[in-house]
Amino acid sequence: MGSSILRQFLEENLAELKSKGLYNVIDPLETANGPIIKVGGKERINLSSNNYLGLATDPRLIEAAVAATRQYGVGAGAVRTINGTLQLHVSLEQKLAHFKQTEAAIAYQSGFNCNMAAISAVMDKQDAILSDELNHASIIDGCRLSKAKIIPYKHSDMDDLRLKAKEAKQSGLYKKIMVITDGVFSMDGDIAKLPEIVQIADEFDLITYVDDAHGSGVLGKGAGTVKHFGLSDKVDFQIGTLSKAIGVVGGYVAGKQELIDWLKVRSRPFLFSTALPPGDVAACLTAIDILAGSTELHDRLWENGTYLKQGLRQLGFDIGQSETPITPCIIGDEKQTQEFSRRLYEEGVYAKAIVFPTVPRGTGRVRNMPTAAHTKEMLDQALAIYEKVGKEMGILA
Ligand code: PMP
Repeated sequence: MGSSILRQFLEENLAELKSKGLYNVIDPLETANGPIIKVGGKERINLSSNNYLGLATDPRLIEAAVAATRQYGVGAGAVRTINGTLQLHVSLEQKLAHFKQTEAAIAYQSGFNCNMAAISAVMDKQDAILSDELNHASIIDGCRLSKAKIIPYKHSDMDDLRLKAKEAKQSGLYKKIMVITDGVFSMDGDIAKLPEIVQIADEFDLITYVDDAHGSGVLGKGAGTVKHFGLSDKVDFQIGTLSKAIGVVGGYVAGKQELIDWLKVRSRPFLFSTALPPGDVAACLTAIDILAGSTELHDRLWENGTYLKQGLRQLGFDIGQSETPITPCIIGDEKQTQEFSRRLYEEGVYAKAIVFPTVPRGTGRVRNMPTAAHTKEMLDQALAIYEKVGKEMGILA
């Protein structure tokens, strides 16, 4: 039977979400998440994955994963601190540190739990965290878990950050103060103003934390947003995921040796959740070698990103303030956004609608993620479909 209170809660809330166009329907893929996917029985141009460099289906990564799986099995068998640490995990962490130009790194099972782990391992209720209002959900949850006072600042507004940093410092209420930002904001594609953030951090003695999930592999010739600005010495925590440009799964912190030593004894997913599977780790190692060895994929990603962005802008779409290949098409109204995405799908493009609560109410968008694996023909076809649907729905003049 189950709880009637729970049933009532779920029925009421699900109905409300559906009536407002806020209920996200999940479409399972019938193929790999490459530039063309089969979904709902139909082949579509895929503009929704985070597989920026196309590495998720790269034969070199697949071979590495298969070989490591044959050698070490499918699972690590334990948490890192008991006996789930294979030499492969150590190699991955060394390679990540080298790639990020830091002293050390620690790997987690996902980018999401990396943020939960790292923030709460260092910050507590005597502390405060200055957090960009558009930071990713995993940062928000990591901040909440830490029990530190969360002080949001207006998105990339350096005057607001300075003011709030000054107030927090002068209040004398907090032992430690941290500033946290995404490196690249995933819903708009804009880049954090790291040079100013680091300057404010210097002025008010703030710990600096950059989640570069969408900047790694994309900016700084692949090494990320911090490298892009030449600030590797100035940022305490460099977070990355292994699930987007790297194409696999996992997350990491790169930083000073003592920080990583501390996270290894205090961050709970490292202590209490089974280590990354060997095949995934081997695939990540291969991906980092590819990135470190050549900028070919990175360059192709930017070429495709610039091409799609220019095309959409020329058609007359509002693509916001993107400075990276992430290209939103901002529609506004949630229901119209869902309808726009549905019509694109019917015509041949899979580009998912992103609405509240992932983005603020009234800023619904179809977000486009071109990758290195797309061809110009695919992008031209996608642009033609955008034009057709945009005109039919009255979004374009
Ligand atoms: N941080 C940011 C900024 C992200 O966009 C994401 C992915 N949605 C994550 C963290 C979580 O990463 P993962 O998917 O590897 O758990």
